[in-house]
Amino acid sequence: MSDEGCVFCKIVKGEIEAEILRDEDGVLAFRDINGRAPVHVLVIPKEHISSLAEVGNVPDGVAKRIFEVAQGVAEGEGIAESGYAFRINNGPDAGQEVFHLHAHVMGGERVRMP
Ligand code: AMP
Repeated sequence: MSDEGCVFCKIVKGEIEAEILRDEDGVLAFRDINGRAPVHVLVIPKEHISSLAEVGNVPDGVAKRIFEVAQGVAEGEGIAESGYAFRINNGPDAGQEVFHLHAHVMGGERVRMP
């Protein structure tokens, strides 16, 4: 299922360009358009799930696949050993801007909270 106005659904459908790194088993990884670290990649379920609050709607296996793709991206980008942040912003206080569940994979330099 996709959502008409959702920018990440448009990337899934190929209607908006993105630098796609991985496309497998219901999960897509692409470079963040406004990278805030030397490596900044987003990993998303292809199906439209608005946020982590909707985790119950994530299809079986896809959550695990998101972790695996994140690790695979880190290996491919050469940051698996130096380390990386895996972060999901959920809702307003976390600053979630795009309401299609996504995990940020950030590394290549020291990355810290917030
Ligand atoms: P969040 O604050 O967790 O919702 O993060 C949303 C992220 O999506 C931000 O880091 C944006 O730079 C990124 N973003 C928004 N539009 C695009 C796009 N068309 N392609 C790639 N990344 C995007």
